[in-house]
Amino acid sequence: MRSAEIIIVGGGPAGSAAARSLKAAGADVLVLDKERFPRHKLCAGWITPQAVSDLQLEIGAYPHGFLSFKRLHWHLRGLGVPVPCVQHSIRRFEFDAWLLERSGAEVVQHAVKDIRTDGEYYWIDEAFRCRYLIGAAGTPCPVRRALFDQLSPRTRALQTATLELEFPYDWRDPDCHLWFFEHGLPGYSWYVPKASGWLNVGVGAMASRLKQRGENIREHWRHFASHLERRFRIRMPSDPTGYSYYVRGALDGARIGNAFLTGDSAGLATRDLCEGIGPAIQSGQRAADAILSGSAYTLGDITRASLGGGLISRAMDWAFTRGAGPSIPMPAPHRVV
Ligand SMILES: Cc1cc2nc3c(=O)[nH]c(=O)nc-3n(C[C@H](O)[C@H](O)[C@H](O)COP(=O)(O)OP(=O)(O)OC[C@H]3O[C@@H](n4cnc5c(N)ncnc54)[C@H](O)[C@@H]3O)c2cc1C
Repeated sequence: MRSAEIIIVGGGPAGSAAARSLKAAGADVLVLDKERFPRHKLCAGWITPQAVSDLQLEIGAYPHGFLSFKRLHWHLRGLGVPVPCVQHSIRRFEFDAWLLERSGAEVVQHAVKDIRTDGEYYWIDEAFRCRYLIGAAGTPCPVRRALFDQLSPRTRALQTATLELEFPYDWRDPDCHLWFFEHGLPGYSWYVPKASGWLNVGVGAMASRLKQRGENIREHWRHFASHLERRFRIRMPSDPTGYSYYVRGALDGARIGNAFLTGDSAGLATRDLCEGIGPAIQSGQRAADAILSGSAYTLGDITRASLGGGLISRAMDWAFTRGAGPSIPMPAPHRVV
């Protein structure tokens, strides 16, 4: 049996952010992840200046591909608007492994299945024991499943469905493109170039709204793929793969005793652009702070709006998540453009 004061289940952005803060304070921390890093992670890999700042990331010192966009092209009903901005892209394959290694925490490859409590301890698969437990394993997080699901079940109307592909591609257009509501998609599709000749393209939508419409995300992928072929002469090298995660809903109950939920396990992605990396990082850091200082674990002021919470933000929140109850006021926004 392996014992540590704090165990983090999941070594993505939420887990590595928590690990880094805890390790820097000298805490006894262990990260368990079912994958060996570097591992593949479905994600467009767009990161905001806020995320770069929260990570204290010196762009010049980052050893992998890092691309900054000067423009974001918004497309709606055939109309394209280039909007000046500063946003970035990375490859999650490289980024997550680098962040986890930078945290300095010990990482053990282990797929967590069962968690039980015994007095002040959490037991994991009868093989690991800790006093503090951080759930950072994304949508299928076993910490959530074992300890939180009954108290705060997921809201189906906030669940996304996505399909994407990342592949080497000699792109000519270095800007990011987003197409909203094409063919009635309750979401958007994207073209995100990466440094060193990589490209990420995908479609994302609210799963329950697709279901209401009797549609499948794969139909939207086919429309999108033929659009990319016409516009950029891109031929998809293979079929896309999918992943589902939850955008921001009510956040009561992200802590029970000394167990915490962070990132996608807590459902923190923004409601207008489904941005999850930044909120994952912030929540991981806050879980670490709560453990280190004994302070409350609060997530309410982590932004739920990538676009600043103004009219466009609210319209998109409404268009994506209607049926999930009224959209909630949006405190502490940050701006993408
Ligand atoms: C197609 C797609 C595109 C996206 N694009 C963007 C984007 O451009 N920008 C953005 O900000 N957000 C984007 N997101 C959202 C973003 O990827 C997530 O919100 C973010 O990765 C959440 O981080 P996390 O650390 O909570 O979880 P994850 O990054 O999912 O990390 C969870 C970790 O837990 C591990 N794990 C899972 N189960 C277990 C287990 N049982 N035992 C041990 N380990 C386990 C996994 O191996 C993984 O390493 C996108 C998501 C998708 C699906």
